[in-house]
Amino acid sequence: DIISISDVVRFQAQEQPDAVVFTFEGDEMTYARLDRDSNRAAQALASKGVGKGDRISYMGKNSHLYFEILVGAAKLGAVMVPVNWRLAPPEVAYILNDCGAKIMFIGPGFDELVRKIKPALQHVEMIFGAEKAEGDFASYPAWRDGFEPIDPMVECAADDDALQLYTSGTTGHPKGAIMTNGSIFSSRSAGIAEEDLMDWQKPVEGEITLLAMPCFHISGTGTGLVVLYTGGSAIVLPEYDPTQALELIEQYNISKIFMVPAAIQIMLNHPRASEVDFSKLKYITYGASPIPLELMKQAMDVLGCGFVQMYGMTETSGTITTLNPEDHDVNGNEKMRSVGTPLPGVEIKIIDPDSLEELPPHSVGEIATRSAKNMKGYWNRPDATAETIDADGWLRTGDAGYLDEDGYLYIHDRLKDMIISGGENIYPAEVENAIYTNPKVADVAVVGIPDEKWGEAVKACVVVKAGQQLTEAEVIAHARDHIAGYKCPKSVDFIDALPRNPSGKILRKDLRAPYWEGKD
Ligand code: ATP
Ligand code: MG
Repeated sequence: DIISISDVVRFQAQEQPDAVVFTFEGDEMTYARLDRDSNRAAQALASKGVGKGDRISYMGKNSHLYFEILVGAAKLGAVMVPVNWRLAPPEVAYILNDCGAKIMFIGPGFDELVRKIKPALQHVEMIFGAEKAEGDFASYPAWRDGFEPIDPMVECAADDDALQLYTSGTTGHPKGAIMTNGSIFSSRSAGIAEEDLMDWQKPVEGEITLLAMPCFHISGTGTGLVVLYTGGSAIVLPEYDPTQALELIEQYNISKIFMVPAAIQIMLNHPRASEVDFSKLKYITYGASPIPLELMKQAMDVLGCGFVQMYGMTETSGTITTLNPEDHDVNGNEKMRSVGTPLPGVEIKIIDPDSLEELPPHSVGEIATRSAKNMKGYWNRPDATAETIDADGWLRTGDAGYLDEDGYLYIHDRLKDMIISGGENIYPAEVENAIYTNPKVADVAVVGIPDEKWGEAVKACVVVKAGQQLTEAEVIAHARDHIAGYKCPKSVDFIDALPRNPSGKILRKDLRAPYWEGKD
């Protein structure tokens, strides 16, 4: 039976040893090599006392060696914890201390940062350069090559911890979500049940996935794991770069890419977007933050491929609902405003966040979900875990939304981002969607700011397209043409760029902060 990350790799190495699984900067890693070198990695880690349930950490840009180390750890039943390298040094130290990793791997150029935080690290005993020696830190490949490629064959159960990813920290300190072998592989398994896969999930020989999102986020690691268990092949980008992505689309048979909406937007705005031939691209899968309808339509128009929207979170090991290609309609239909329907085996319900009572279709409440994809819990945070997952296994997402009569899920926003103005609930995403239909608007975020009369007032922060002019009155008048008056912004700030985290999420707390100083 195939129930774990290591089973998947063993299986693929047997089935298709010479097929390339990851290509990174021209280096092609086959399934056989991944299997063999991850065995060496497992032996190397074991020689330093790493065993079942232990955490190891990787901080660096994407690389095929990240996956090799992850699989090496998995073969021992140890758990990879990738760390967001864009975080400030104290935040990186926080995660390393929280997860307790004794061995850490760093990508090229991160030795400076690590040296700076080293005095604050409570558990890290050894640091390796993942690709080569970094400053005083020894080379991982040189180290692992000193070990025999013997599979330790540690038994792993479906509910054993397999991966620990920290949430994006959009709403506060990131929390370590523990994923198990079962939560990662519940909805699909390697080599079996191919007939149960949707067309866009099936690997096709000769087709390549572009892995362009960061591996410290579920979108990046999740994409890599899907490639593994479907026996596919991926080109791994160190980080998202639209120029490079467009070149690869032209040169290779790239058929699938997962991108966050912000990355799609950057690609569309690239000067070369209009001349690139996208005909080999079959599917763009996207999600992780709301997408303005206007942007979705523009992407369908320019890229001309199939689109699959995904909704999920770190706590659900990634995607739990998908809006499939057939529901994407250039003319725009009601379903296009949704994030689609649950994956097989996933339950979704809408609850009243106070009474926890289940709500009927079309009532907005908190989205709750139950399935084998749910995380085991937050690492070292029993209180937060208990607040998030109830005794029956329902996980509260913190997102507001509703279901329609056909079971399609519509996301309004995070409950915490909801603006209450004059007693009315206003969801920023809906207001942003309306403002974004103005062709002069490059980007927009909406937040609530304190207001004596209304409690909160809607504030729009707008980035104007280069070479265009826009006034506050025009933004407000345009919004009025699209949404109810009470939802329209009362004021507008014009800014150069929106603060976003690496998964493309707007950092509303940063936009709100100056207005709420001393008031929150
Ligand atoms: P933190 O929990 O630390 O504040 P985060 O919630 O941003 O961080 P993630 O787990 O990366 O961290 O993100 C999950 C959230 O992303 C969901 O709860 C939801 O708010 C949002 N999201 C994901 N997919 C979509 C989508 N397709 N449309 C709208 N929002 C989405
Ligand atoms: Mg979250």
